Amino acid sequence: MSRFEPNSFRQHFPVINNQQDQKLVYFDNGATTQKPNAVIESVSQYYQCINANVHRASHQLSAKSTLAFEKAREQVKQLINANDIKEVIWTKGTTESINLVCQSYGDSYLSAGDDIVLTYAEHHANIVPWQLLAKRVGATIKLIPLDKDGYADINCLDEVITENCKLVACTHVSNVLGKKNPIEAVIAKAKSVGAVTLIDGAQAIAHFTVDVQALDCDFYVFSAHKLYGPTGVGVLYGKRALLEKMTPYQSGGEMIKTVSFNDETTFNSLPFKFEAGTPNIAGVIAFASALEFLQPYLPSGKQSFSAYEKQLTKYCYDKLVAIDTLDMLFNSVPDIGVISFTVQGHHNHDISTALDSYGIAVRAGHHCAMPLMEYLGVSGCIRVSLSPYNSFDEVDYFIYILKSILSPAVDNTASAKQSAANN
Ligand code: PMP
Repeated sequence: MSRFEPNSFRQHFPVINNQQDQKLVYFDNGATTQKPNAVIESVSQYYQCINANVHRASHQLSAKSTLAFEKAREQVKQLINANDIKEVIWTKGTTESINLVCQSYGDSYLSAGDDIVLTYAEHHANIVPWQLLAKRVGATIKLIPLDKDGYADINCLDEVITENCKLVACTHVSNVLGKKNPIEAVIAKAKSVGAVTLIDGAQAIAHFTVDVQALDCDFYVFSAHKLYGPTGVGVLYGKRALLEKMTPYQSGGEMIKTVSFNDETTFNSLPFKFEAGTPNIAGVIAFASALEFLQPYLPSGKQSFSAYEKQLTKYCYDKLVAIDTLDMLFNSVPDIGVISFTVQGHHNHDISTALDSYGIAVRAGHHCAMPLMEYLGVSGCIRVSLSPYNSFDEVDYFIYILKSILSPAVDNTASAKQSAANN
């Protein structure tokens, strides 16, 4: 096992290193991660060398692009330890993966009187599709409360997940709290009442080893862009038996076996049944390049960034806690580098805008989790989200600038800004 070298890892990310006017401290990785050269080059390489539609033509170029496209599916299968390559469906992202399950599974298998169980810490992408489904079929949404540290409270599972429950959709890691939910217990409880489970892995996939067979969840969803891959590519993992019995989501080319005006149209086999139309071929292939690039750095890799991420998160969290005018949403170190807080006497957006003027990119607002904000009694918060390409020096700079914004006593002049920026 060789040591993770944050500086050499960072060199692969041109956006971070190429800013001309001002140093960029990118602390918005929960929204999307920056892309390594390997991904950027892969997109351009695809269009320069093998651009052709997949699965259709008999010519060599199409064979090449199909091979690369399907190899990417195999890499995702390995990443999440799916049992069968047919269980890996390409989508546009986490949001589309959830909508697919909602419409293809939910509309057929849920009905009036059924419960859909979520937690209070879900992203809107894992709330609104279920609300719409509940309305369509007459189901009820029930919610798992959070415990004192911000995790789905396992002591409430028996109360919320009852015989009426037909589906549990739970985030693996909250995009606001950075807490890794006890999904094993949630899945086990759901199974005990015969409910299907969907795990939103959007925030987990870049930080933890995900083994869908060990988890034994029915569906697991995530987006490539949170894992250093391109935007517009997502994954739906589903157990084959379930996917087989689901109706198609969108329809058109690619997802059919036969189309006729005389006989009934028949559908393609998995995974193509759920992949109507021309997919994001370049994006999928570039995602495979992201996975190849990341291989040594992932939690299972030889130069894993996990320990470094943990240290950096704790370092940043401890520094923030020490500022007495900040209120953390929960008083314990998050499981990934996602740290959220409010500032007494200041609007969240004022703070994030002030930080931005020093080149520090954080996010302020409700973070697509309005029910969580309501649950916690805040209108919004500031979220710092770290990646292993971030450094301890960047955290120091951020804390220094944050303190200077909060305290007029600290020198906040243009020259101080400049010297801080050069720090
Ligand atoms: N779930 C969680 C927990 C997320 O953090 C996000 C993205 N912020 C999503 C779902 C939606 O992902 P996407 O926008 O890539 O579809």
